[in-house]
Amino acid sequence: MTERLSKPAEQTTMEDIKQNYLAVCENAAEAMELSGRKDRVRIMAVTKTVPCDKINYAESLGINLLGENRVQEFLSKYENYSKKSEIHFIGGLQKNKVKYIIDKVSMIHSVDSVELAAEINRRAAAHGVKPDILFEINIGNEPSKGGLAKDALYDTAKAVSELENIRIRGLMAIPPAGRGEYYFAAMQELFENARQKYSFMSAMDELSMGMSGDYVSAVKYGSTIIRIGSGLFGARNYAV
Ligand SMILES: *Cc1c(COP(=O)(O)O)cnc(C)c1O
Repeated sequence: MTERLSKPAEQTTMEDIKQNYLAVCENAAEAMELSGRKDRVRIMAVTKTVPCDKINYAESLGINLLGENRVQEFLSKYENYSKKSEIHFIGGLQKNKVKYIIDKVSMIHSVDSVELAAEINRRAAAHGVKPDILFEINIGNEPSKGGLAKDALYDTAKAVSELENIRIRGLMAIPPAGRGEYYFAAMQELFENARQKYSFMSAMDELSMGMSGDYVSAVKYGSTIIRIGSGLFGARNYAV
């Protein structure tokens, strides 16, 4: 697995993708069992920089959830997608780009302001759709990252809960590299508290956290969607 992970994406074969996928399934299932979880975790294939033939192949293995984080790249590839999978938007989203993706994705993981939610709501109404959203939490308080401060969740969610064409489904986080364990625990606590204490967040049932390097730990702390890019398709040779 380590060897496959370090292989550059261009050299990753379909067989590698298959073996990588099986390893992720196995590791995630083992983490579910060790933590005594009886619910489920979904494996999302994160598609940035990945050519369509590899994405379509991943679907043939059983992947039915794709994660997009760049609007331009997504739109350029969308035509060649099989449309068999559910598609979620997971990257930073500018308000003026919402209109391009609103009819193509069923969930947006990166909502971090009332203004962005209001734009999603407005475009959703115009298209007659009702997308799911997650609030992205900047759990490590890193200035370089998007997301709401933990303390801003209550006010933001309360305002967003008034919007009629959006469903609040949960929380998402990208914790500081190497400190996953600590921050996944903090996310789980925030998620459980918010669900129990506040009616406008009581329906939350998705916790999107864990990437190729730390998904096992995320599953232990209740992740329901692990977002896997390089761990399936090989190492990207530049930072994205
Ligand atoms: C790229 C990306 C991932 C996947 O990262 P890997 O380390 O390649 O698994 C997950 N979530 C988001 C938001 C991303 O941008």
